[in-house]
Amino acid sequence: MPSNIERCYQCGQCTSVCPMGEQEQTYKIRKFLQMEKRGLANEESMMLPFIFYCTTCYRCQDNCPQEVKIVDGVLEIRANAVHNGQMLRSHRKVAKMLFEYGHAVPTTPEVMEKRLHLGLDKMPPTVQGSDEQLDEINTLLQITGFDRLLEDEVPEIKLNEGLTCVQQPGSELSAVEEGA
Ligand code: SF4
Ligand code: SF4
Repeated sequence: MPSNIERCYQCGQCTSVCPMGEQEQTYKIRKFLQMEKRGLANEESMMLPFIFYCTTCYRCQDNCPQEVKIVDGVLEIRANAVHNGQMLRSHRKVAKMLFEYGHAVPTTPEVMEKRLHLGLDKMPPTVQGSDEQLDEINTLLQITGFDRLLEDEVPEIKLNEGLTCVQQPGSELSAVEEGA
């Protein structure tokens, strides 16, 4: 375990200072660390999609009396979730952009038009404008197995009793109460 979350003694200080926890009551970083420690993270997870809400602000870590590397723990939980096919729709879109354009935020036709208007080349000197470099990016993504992470899309994740995590067409994952 690269993070040192085994040092956590569940004092709750991290949860009390977490700005994300203030916004979303289900987001309890202390509880997520406990689940990870107990090996429950890979089950139909109560943490999804909430673990992706962390902004990596490090406030929890700065206030932890045990010097737990909480953010490393969060990143590890996220990575495991993605490797289990639980990638958020918005992240999947960004990943597909990488394949298609070599950039998470590609140059759009509107931007090209503005560049021309400003007397610039239509396309900036980036990977997007080079077939050869784009091929190299794609090769790297394939060698690292990144392409395989995009193969499976999980439309619904059971969170816990009474809660289901759903993906509406064209929208982000969100939690809804069953029967609500
Ligand atoms: S502040 Fe540190 S020790 Fe306390 S619950 Fe959070 S991670 Fe665990
Ligand atoms: S790093 Fe994440 S878990 Fe920690 S305080 Fe910030 S938002 Fe909360």
